[in-house]
Amino acid sequence: MSDSFRHETRTVRAAIDSDEQFGAVMPPIVLSTNFTFEGFGKPREYDYSRTANPTRDALAAAIADLEGGAGATVTASGMAAITLACQLLNPGDLVIAPVDCYGGTYRLLSRLAARGLFQVRFMDLADTGQLAAAEREPARLLWVESPTNPLLRIMDLARLRQVADACGALLAVDNTFLSPALQRPLESGADLVIHSTTKYLNGHSDVVSGVVVARDAALHAELATWANALGLTGAPFDSFMALRGLRTLFVRMRQHETNARALAETLAASPAVARVHYPGLPGHPGHDLARRQQRGFGGMLSFELRGGQDAARRFLGQLRLFTLAESLGGVESLACHPATMTHLPLGPEGRRAAGIGDGLVRLSAGIEATDDLVADVRAALSSLG
Ligand SMILES: *Cc1c(COP(=O)(O)O)cnc(C)c1O
Repeated sequence: MSDSFRHETRTVRAAIDSDEQFGAVMPPIVLSTNFTFEGFGKPREYDYSRTANPTRDALAAAIADLEGGAGATVTASGMAAITLACQLLNPGDLVIAPVDCYGGTYRLLSRLAARGLFQVRFMDLADTGQLAAAEREPARLLWVESPTNPLLRIMDLARLRQVADACGALLAVDNTFLSPALQRPLESGADLVIHSTTKYLNGHSDVVSGVVVARDAALHAELATWANALGLTGAPFDSFMALRGLRTLFVRMRQHETNARALAETLAASPAVARVHYPGLPGHPGHDLARRQQRGFGGMLSFELRGGQDAARRFLGQLRLFTLAESLGGVESLACHPATMTHLPLGPEGRRAAGIGDGLVRLSAGIEATDDLVADVRAALSSLG
């Protein structure tokens, strides 16, 4: 789609009116595993769907356009996307990753490193001393998440680009928490952007998928080759669903953010709440940085209840419009207790080190009416006495 139009427009119209056979307005779903040869020695554009598929390509093109990359590889899950990015590493290469990265990323990097596929060092990417030390050593990949999960810390992408340059590393940003509607890491100097499409890009909690977007064409070609060789590519049906969800990304993100902000303000005003983590609040330590490097503050927030785990249990039990579940980024509001759910594997010590208290609750604000969500949280807070 022509880049004279805004991203909002291009996302809605991705691959619309591209069907030459029937003139279908919406791009048809192509589930076929294989494609005919026109004749002996005459292959067509597509031959086999693991390698390339028109429906998956339509989604990849839309996401590459949104992120401003040379190309995107759509994978079967967010973890498959991260596995794909790891194919750029050789034995001996160093990966620098955040101590508080997504749990699945931590598990994958540490277990592959334990098998000698590469080396990994987990560090606090907001700690200026640790970054200065890291700059003195060569590395191949600097992995970043911003905002972080579940404390919504904001990492300085421009500073991390400098670190990556000093180390000779590729800069990879997992952009799952904001989506390209609110943050485009390639513009901040990233080489790779990774998404769990499962979250905001699909946005309806009904597809597990992922994507790796590369800034330059050679890197994209290398990733596409590995995705085919390893069989990591996403299913056509999932791609069809994700493209359908993607069209509404910008309007969804606006309502997610409106709701998250209202919830953050409501929580911040409650005596039962010790601390609210939402980068949109002026008192958040990453507020100014987020203003600079993001186009919005997103739909995720967390907060610490003064009453610890007991208060968290009672609060979560009272909610009617927030479903107790892991994951995030769907149209429906969700609530999660990191200490007993997403961050249980860290253990008490690990959680203490990461600053995840027993009274911490994480919310994924959906797109329901703001007043209803605020009233629901108010009622649950008042039940804490
Ligand atoms: C969910 C998530 C992943 C993993 O994605 P899956 O689609 O579940 O495989 C990776 N990174 C972040 C930040 C996530 O939230």
